[in-house]
Amino acid sequence: MKLFRTLISYDEALRTVLAHASRTGYEEIRFDDALNRVLAEDIRSPIDSPPFDRAAMDGYAIRGEDSFGASPQRPVLLTIRKGVPGPEAAVECLDVREGECVPIATGMPVPRGSNAVVMLEYTKERDGTLEVYRPVPPGKNVSVRGEDVKAGEVVLPAGRRLRAHDIGMLAMLFQRTVRVYQRATIGIISTGDELIDPRTSSVADEHAQGTRPSKIADSNSYMLAAFTHPLANPHRIGILQDDPEAIKAAIRSALEGACDAMLVTGGSSVGSRDFLTDVVEALGELLFHGVAMRPGEPTGFGIINRRPIFVLPGYPVAAIAAFELLVRPFLLALHGVADERIRLPAIARKDIPSAVGRTDFVRVKLQKEAGRYYAEPIRVSGSGILSSMTKSDGFLVVAANKEGIAAGETAAVTLYE
Ligand code: AMP
Ligand code: MG
Repeated sequence: MKLFRTLISYDEALRTVLAHASRTGYEEIRFDDALNRVLAEDIRSPIDSPPFDRAAMDGYAIRGEDSFGASPQRPVLLTIRKGVPGPEAAVECLDVREGECVPIATGMPVPRGSNAVVMLEYTKERDGTLEVYRPVPPGKNVSVRGEDVKAGEVVLPAGRRLRAHDIGMLAMLFQRTVRVYQRATIGIISTGDELIDPRTSSVADEHAQGTRPSKIADSNSYMLAAFTHPLANPHRIGILQDDPEAIKAAIRSALEGACDAMLVTGGSSVGSRDFLTDVVEALGELLFHGVAMRPGEPTGFGIINRRPIFVLPGYPVAAIAAFELLVRPFLLALHGVADERIRLPAIARKDIPSAVGRTDFVRVKLQKEAGRYYAEPIRVSGSGILSSMTKSDGFLVVAANKEGIAAGETAAVTLYE
């Protein structure tokens, strides 16, 4: 194990990162472009919804009290009034008086004077007269105005990341535009002489040239872009060789361009070809390097031209741990959003050893038995083993002040999105 000059605690690393997460500005966008965007304002309903009392069933609008005592043997008889000519407007204009009814379809405004809808199934029309076979209390089968949402009510609070059903709510309320936080652009670079782009090359190419494969796919930049995507705009810059000058130039140009922050993986440790932290020191200020967490210890963080840069480990699982524990909270803070992921209490199947002072990111598979969830740790070490992520359902964190989690102990498991 390589040594760091000093390891800082995870809590201190998180505090440092969050202290440099300055909120993005606002913008006004169309509601139908707002999926995953974070509201910068409370959305209050401008209207009652439904906007009028409406029928919840097909049938006849009646005065409920007129139907009292109705039975198949002794149907109540009501006079049918029919709207002419167009259905909706005509129905609404009709007044239902005592002893009358108006044919109505689901969703239509109930006519004035009526207060209930008797279902088609419990009626029969005979020569302009309606036979009603069941009593229908007032209010039955009518959705009253404002039943869903009342005018002035806060339906979606500031800080909410909009989900698909929120887009439906915005449409329902005729909220054409919404004020949201601008999405930060996050530059993503993979470094390493061993990397090739899986979109354009493969190890089969090396086989074809008669050489033994020595290259591996750059999975990190694709994975980090996918992780970033719901929270910010990922800008994949791609692979750079282990060449400090080339890396410096790429970081400088990304930060002078559109990137608000950077994620760089690889070369983050303390080996002879691990010069990422030197690059950050040359361009700006390195705030920490080496965090007491596992995996993800060789994580660094700095500021270049007031823009944050994360130096993440090359090992994919370590990069994910650093993303989940440091980058995700940073991206959430940039956009003013709380972490809304679900944490499930689960019982540890096995002992999960840790060390006091170290924060552990443990991948677990969940199993449900007799109404309880059990967490099976997938693999305690091995930060290059990406399948430990794809086989797990979520992760749990062993806090620095804990020596581990004992089998049978309950811990909070964060589910992947
Ligand atoms: P490094 O942090 O540069 O020492 O990288 C550690 C190990 O992580 C390398 O030997 C690779 O096996 C792996 N690795 C580094 N970068 C990537 C990447 N972009 N995608 C997938 N694996 C990587
Ligand atoms: Mg490397």
